[in-house]
Amino acid sequence: MNKAVSLSCKKIHEICDGLFSRRQRVQIMEVCGTHTMSIARSGLRSLLPEGLNLISGPGCPVCVTEQSYVDKAVALADRSSEFVIATYGDMVRVPGSRSSLAEARAGGADVRVVTSADRALELARQLGQKQVVFLAVGFETTAPGTALAVQEAKRQGVNNFSALTAHKLILPAMDALLAADDVRIDGFLCPGHVSVILGYGAYDGLSRRYGRPCVVAGFDPLQIIAALEAILQQLADGRSEAVSVYPAVARDGNPTALKLLEDVFVEADTSWRSLGVIPNSGLVLRQEFAEFDAAKRFELPATESHESPGCRCGDVICGRCTPFECELFSSGRCTPRAPVGPCMVSSEGACAAAYKYEKR
Ligand code: SF4
Repeated sequence: MNKAVSLSCKKIHEICDGLFSRRQRVQIMEVCGTHTMSIARSGLRSLLPEGLNLISGPGCPVCVTEQSYVDKAVALADRSSEFVIATYGDMVRVPGSRSSLAEARAGGADVRVVTSADRALELARQLGQKQVVFLAVGFETTAPGTALAVQEAKRQGVNNFSALTAHKLILPAMDALLAADDVRIDGFLCPGHVSVILGYGAYDGLSRRYGRPCVVAGFDPLQIIAALEAILQQLADGRSEAVSVYPAVARDGNPTALKLLEDVFVEADTSWRSLGVIPNSGLVLRQEFAEFDAAKRFELPATESHESPGCRCGDVICGRCTPFECELFSSGRCTPRAPVGPCMVSSEGACAAAYKYEKR
């Protein structure tokens, strides 16, 4: 263990000694899937005092995207003479109610992996004839890229490009979790990438309303440890503030990206896996960009979302259970090679992280 980690962990143990004498335990939610992965990869849990629990949250974009969205994407993909589906890689293997995009591709669908919305737009320009539908998922991190691509498509008149949007906003989900009150959350380890856009000041309201510390961190283990220490110190002092230990995050975020989001999207009530519909928790394209909205432009099936039988992804992303408590995990019936739910597919999924790094 390097010296900095050792010193920080010692401090965490000292703070917890004091805290645990006053309360039973402390439960901190890591909101972001990249934090979940980093915590598992680094073996951080083994260095923390017993009674300090880190639980996963709703910050993995693929994991919170409803099954019905995958069904809509598959329905378009199946019309392979008309459509090309452009998507981030993680979405390809997420099971829908009938099939995944990977299975659709095996059946002849044209499904291309892209690294950005801009690449999807480029693909549309190259293909010319076929409709390219970009699967626009993710939080405030990826939404500005979608916004820019849609603006560019309009400016250049690329009318065979559209986005099937399922962008989500992280703050309403955190609010919903605290309001639901069925999971104990003493503080939030807030996401780094999203907060670069939002700014750490965006968490002020949550901290004040619910009395929970919100601390933004980057993704290396030292950053995470520093944030945990900051959360615990606030709890020990009886404070709840929104702060950042990640130098890349400014208090007001990135005003250019925020303006871009405002120009292209409006907030809308949106359905989340397991959390249901959360008011104003999603982004849909403004009316002036309707011609680039795949949901308005094309006929899509109206399907309902159901979890695969036995899958507890919904509970995992709300911190209600760990992957190890899912029977399909412990029995070996859900694995990265044969995933049952999105938490095992995504590179930011809690089940994939547990399987890869923490499986006993
Ligand atoms: Fe779902 Fe598999 Fe995770 Fe269980 S282990 S919650 S089935 S993804």
